[in-house]
Amino acid sequence: MARITVPNDLDAHWMPFTANRQFKAAPRLLVGAKDMYYTSHDGRQVLDGCAGLWCVNAGHGRDKISEAVARQISEMDYSPSFQMGHPLSFELASRLVELAPDGIDHVFYCNSGSEAVDTALKMALAYHRIRGEGSRTRLIGRERGYHGVGFGGISVGGIVSNRKHFGTLLSGVDHLRHTHDPARNAFSWGQPEHGAELADDLERLVALHDASTIAAVIVEPIAGSTGVLIPPKGYLKRLREICDRHGILLIFDEVICGFGRTGKAFGADSFEVTPDLMTTAKGITNGAVPMGAVFAKKEIYDTFMTGPEHLIEFFHGYTYSGHPLACAAALATLDIYAEEKLFDRAANLSEYFGKAAHALRDLPNVIDIRNYGMVAAVELSPRAGEPTKRAYEIFVRAYEQGVLLRFTGDIIAISPPLIIDEAQIDHLYAVLAEAIKATA
Ligand code: PMP
Repeated sequence: MARITVPNDLDAHWMPFTANRQFKAAPRLLVGAKDMYYTSHDGRQVLDGCAGLWCVNAGHGRDKISEAVARQISEMDYSPSFQMGHPLSFELASRLVELAPDGIDHVFYCNSGSEAVDTALKMALAYHRIRGEGSRTRLIGRERGYHGVGFGGISVGGIVSNRKHFGTLLSGVDHLRHTHDPARNAFSWGQPEHGAELADDLERLVALHDASTIAAVIVEPIAGSTGVLIPPKGYLKRLREICDRHGILLIFDEVICGFGRTGKAFGADSFEVTPDLMTTAKGITNGAVPMGAVFAKKEIYDTFMTGPEHLIEFFHGYTYSGHPLACAAALATLDIYAEEKLFDRAANLSEYFGKAAHALRDLPNVIDIRNYGMVAAVELSPRAGEPTKRAYEIFVRAYEQGVLLRFTGDIIAISPPLIIDEAQIDHLYAVLAEAIKATA
């Protein structure tokens, strides 16, 4: 493909989660995408090692999705989402529910992971209120949790930089400790052995506040954005048991885990724990059109339907909830996942993928490697006294060498589209290995 020049003026676009000044001095622009590869503005093929932002699970440029979206926009571009509906949103909800764990059978649409999280938190609060337990207002998240950037999400989230600039956030929020324990679990294969007992933090919070004040706990089955923290064996089950014991709702944030990343439809399936609410986005449309969805257990939906509000049961929604283009994209995406058995493919490839990750173990500064399904992370020792993290340099270097990776702090995350093949996995890790050596 021809080289495409960088626009003359990059200044007006204030970029999200970006070092704007560094970026604008040396921009990285992507101008095309097909299957496993992006095309960069300087005409290079870049292997996508992170499925865009953990979302393009079926690979890029899928004709089935673009054709479905094109068809839909010419038929009906938009339909109001309040007190009105269109057929695709209902068809999609039924398809999503078929995919969901048993007992989860309703879907509420939004447009992103952040909106899904705020929606789920509000659902949890309103649910308890309708049931006459309005004292249950506390929300519990986890250190190193990422739940998007809404005020609800940053309040229950556990990332200091996402919280410290924004005031006091939601009141009545507590956090469980995170489960990352390199002293006991470094270089674990799959789920770490140690740490199930960390779920008992919830019992401590119940003892401190009383269960009658706690509405919900939200965790990612695998915490993705903070460096791929895989739940220790038994941890999520223990959390579920404690929630059940005290009438606390369990919310899984499946924005990254959902739609095949773990080798099953959802992290809930892989870890055999069914939450009460599940937040999703990203892979629901293969990243092609923004969409999020909250999945709810029947009991929660039924509670709203028997509540005192007869006209509108849940005072919440978005102009673009269930947008026709997003529904069309999602239906086509689900077809591709099913026809190509991509979740099974992820499960089958995960051993090869994990081995390739763990093969980097003896490289300089590597202090941990972890993997589950088609996600892995390589953690590097911090560089004393220097602000530039090794992982950032590795990200830049790998991109220059034609591989797109994610970095967070001192951690490199790898989560490619599920269509990746073994040769591409080898290439990805070879480039990563070279970049690690080069920054030593
Ligand atoms: N929850 C989790 C677990 C996520 O990983 C993300 C995004 N990385 C979000 C929520 C927020 O999603 P969005 O960026 O679509 O708002």
